[in-house]
Amino acid sequence: ENVTKTFGTKKALDHVTINIPSARTHVLLGSSGSGKSTIIRILIGVLRADSGIVKINGNIGYVPQDGGLFPHLTARDNVSLVAETLGWKKQKIDARIDELLQLTSLDPALLSRFPKQLSGGQRQRVSLMRASFLDPALLILDEPLGALDPIIRNDVQNELKSIFNALKKTVLMVTHDIDEARFFGHALTLLRDGHVVQTGTFEDLRDTPADPFVTKFIQAQRTFE
Ligand code: ADP
Ligand code: MG
Repeated sequence: ENVTKTFGTKKALDHVTINIPSARTHVLLGSSGSGKSTIIRILIGVLRADSGIVKINGNIGYVPQDGGLFPHLTARDNVSLVAETLGWKKQKIDARIDELLQLTSLDPALLSRFPKQLSGGQRQRVSLMRASFLDPALLILDEPLGALDPIIRNDVQNELKSIFNALKKTVLMVTHDIDEARFFGHALTLLRDGHVVQTGTFEDLRDTPADPFVTKFIQAQRTFE
């Protein structure tokens, strides 16, 4: 609510207000530099807003922009790291890993690999397993599919959407891709230069744009329709 964040003289966020309803996927959409990652970094607590109010109902699981897996740990150790730190018993950890393997349809044999021995899509699934491990109320993903090639991206989009549906979680997902935003988002918030331009469904943005920029942003990327 009314969140402002300045870096030096650069206003990265200017009175940003966003409401993220539970058990839905909300997409933050905007060009590079519009403030998407800054919002997320404030939500997860690595940055502090200069002013405004941030309220979060429950714990957060976070999938960073590049997956953020530790390169020196196997997939299994990446996934179980937080639970290990919290002192979970091995049996409980193994049971949770089994659940998450099923959920993400990841081949169990891949767990002994290091991140660099996995494909981009597999790394994303491992990162999602790690973020989901403690059953967070809110799952935040920063451009989760940005690094994938278009064909794999399409597959992973479909899988990811069914995982979100299965988890019934509140999901906040960042993308700069309007098609991806439409595919995932029950609601979209379009940002421009640290301002919220509009929040609504894809159809709201398309049919009743709050600003000419909304139409420009949508049309600039609609090359196949
Ligand atoms: P996005 O994720 O939408 O690409 P960011 O939230 O990363 O955008 O950045 C928003 C603006 O804030 C950009 O102009 C960026 O250069 C600036 N910015 C972000 N983080 C920092 C920082 N730590 N120091 C200085 N400027 C920053
Ligand atoms: Mg970013």
